[in-house]
Amino acid sequence: MTSGLPLAAGGFDRAAVRRSDAEWLADAWTRAQVLPISPQSSVPVHDGRLELRPADAAPEGVRRFLGLVDSVPHFAVTTQPRGDNWQTLREFGGRADDLEASLVTCAVALEQWHQRHVRCPRCGATTTETQAGWTRTCTADGSEHFPRTDPAVIMLVHDGGDRALLGRGHQWGDGRFSTLAGFVEPGESLEAAVAREVFEEVGVTVTDIRYVASQPWPFPASLMVGFVARLDGDPAITLDPVEMAEAAWFTRDEIARAAGWTDSQLSPDPDAPLRGVSPRLSISRYLVDEWLAGRI
Ligand SMILES: [Zn+2]
Repeated sequence: MTSGLPLAAGGFDRAAVRRSDAEWLADAWTRAQVLPISPQSSVPVHDGRLELRPADAAPEGVRRFLGLVDSVPHFAVTTQPRGDNWQTLREFGGRADDLEASLVTCAVALEQWHQRHVRCPRCGATTTETQAGWTRTCTADGSEHFPRTDPAVIMLVHDGGDRALLGRGHQWGDGRFSTLAGFVEPGESLEAAVAREVFEEVGVTVTDIRYVASQPWPFPASLMVGFVARLDGDPAITLDPVEMAEAAWFTRDEIARAAGWTDSQLSPDPDAPLRGVSPRLSISRYLVDEWLAGRI
């Protein structure tokens, strides 16, 4: 089941059982479609579509088996970008179809993880890629290490009526707000992380915390777990000035008016309290849209 949320569609068969089958992988390569990806996690895009290549036209580089699309093996190959048609997932993700977004998200997540885990966390020796790019193995003690996914919670907080609570990060322009979010800490449930992050960032207590949807966010390794939560008690905001530049309650009308604008282009009205929300690629925007539509 999928939510229709960008990057979250799944869309291909990961065929994990094949990752250790060297003979099958070698044959699969000969009939593969190949996704080139740069160390900066950009990919080639041609006429608005992802530019996959047959294996005999693929660049040299480390091969990673992504999975099967209608029985056709798909690999990623890390290479330096050639030409000016390479785009990052942030640039391309909003225009990609579900399958393209799923392939690129997977390839970017793996690339980011490999770059950051060249040494064994147990003994500090170097590690090498194994299992067609899905593990790293220590050259000294043989220990296997798996790609990390770090859970983060992201939540639409409302007052049970007409208002939702949004915050503005220090790096964003005036009037550009988003839902609150934060990383889950060791030993903590997702629901507890929602309540803790909201209280830490804005000093507000929430209840009726319900799961909505999740989205992989490989910048570098997050899984965004989306919730809706309702104000419990006093709506007065006590801001954590380190975490946020400002936070406020906005009405449905104010949010609906701002929904046509994002951080790439804010509303030209300098007096509007809310001049833009998160881009459509993000789960933050999805939560806002679902609340505006009355679905959560
Ligand atoms: Zn080791």
